[in-house]
Amino acid sequence: MKCISCAAPVSRLDRSGRYVCDYCETEAVAKALSDSIDKLVLTGTASSLACPSCCHAGSKNGNTVMLETGSLDNQSILGCRTCQGVWIRRPSFALLVHGRRSEYTGPDRVSDFDLAVDGPRSHYDRLECPMCQSTMESFFYAGPGRVAIDSCAACERVWLDCGELTRIAEAPGRR
Ligand SMILES: [Zn+2]
Ligand SMILES: [Zn+2]
Ligand SMILES: [Zn+2]
Repeated sequence: MKCISCAAPVSRLDRSGRYVCDYCETEAVAKALSDSIDKLVLTGTASSLACPSCCHAGSKNGNTVMLETGSLDNQSILGCRTCQGVWIRRPSFALLVHGRRSEYTGPDRVSDFDLAVDGPRSHYDRLECPMCQSTMESFFYAGPGRVAIDSCAACERVWLDCGELTRIAEAPGRR
């Protein structure tokens, strides 16, 4: 996204969850992608990491898709504009889940679950960590909302597929 005052690219989220131009300090208004279930904000500034899901050996898309800097609420993340997956530090993920669950006021929802599609990946279908290139683990998230997430222990980050955060936020359980 561009600064409305000086047109410089704005990609840095400050601690209070605002995007501020590095050059003129004008605040940029971040809008979530219009079709994002998880309210994913992407800045348009590419990171140096490739999307682990779009660039997965098993995926049909042969092009390299780069992750962009972005945010979910006040947590900075890297996200994919193509598949809307999110690469996030573990502590940020915990804070985000806590915030989303406590703010959610809708009805508890239990999404349809298909083990073949939504369950942990088979041994041969694991994603590669975009940072250290080792094979990520795939397991059920221990909190609410039966979702399987991918994680790199060495890099202390997790990969969330599109919609997983919302499933966690809306699932029954303590808020
Ligand atoms: Zn500016
Ligand atoms: Zn992707
Ligand atoms: Zn890693």
